[in-house]
Amino acid sequence: MEPTSAITAISGVIGIFDKMWKMYKDYSDKLSNGKEKTESEQFLNEARANLQIAKAQLGEALGHILCRYHFPPGVMVRIGPDKNNQWQCIDCGHRKPSDSELAEESSYDEFSA
Ligand SMILES: [Zn+2]
Repeated sequence: MEPTSAITAISGVIGIFDKMWKMYKDYSDKLSNGKEKTESEQFLNEARANLQIAKAQLGEALGHILCRYHFPPGVMVRIGPDKNNQWQCIDCGHRKPSDSELAEESSYDEFSA
């Protein structure tokens, strides 16, 4: 299998698991408090963490960088103009490089020009 079609397949599987997670979450929310609800919530939390890791690894394979400010790591998407090459975490909003680092960088460029 070509790497790109493998990534497409993995992406599809993650999407299916995402839907299944939401369906099971709806079911779990309707349960009355007790052993079954506690166990299903525990399962949901573990599944969520594993899904997040899978998404982060997929994101990395697709050329995104990962936010290391929490675990599981978040996928960072490129924001702003290309020349800045700034990334923002879709989970926590952390920016890399930060706005102040970018401001320093552009003032340095003006100085050196
Ligand atoms: Zn983050």
